[in-house]
Amino acid sequence: MAVQQNKKTSSKRNMRRSHDALVAANPNECANCGELKRPHHVCPSCGHYDSRSVVAMATEVDLDEDAA
Ligand SMILES: [Zn+2]
Repeated sequence: MAVQQNKKTSSKRNMRRSHDALVAANPNECANCGELKRPHHVCPSCGHYDSRSVVAMATEVDLDEDAA
C-alpha cells in the first residue's frame, strides 16, 4: 500500500474539500397535481409520470380497522 511521505496541510485538505459540498435537489412541478417532484421520477403524491397514471395510489387507510 502506498503511504504518504508528508502530512497534507490543513490548507491543502480544505482546498480538496472545497468541491465536496452537496447541492440541493432541483424539483419541478408535477403536471397532474402540481406537487414538487424529482425530475424523471414518478410523482410520489399522485403516481403520474409523463401525464399518465403509472402507479395506482392507495386510498385513505382506516387506522381503526387495522388496529382491531
Ligand atoms: Zn402528481
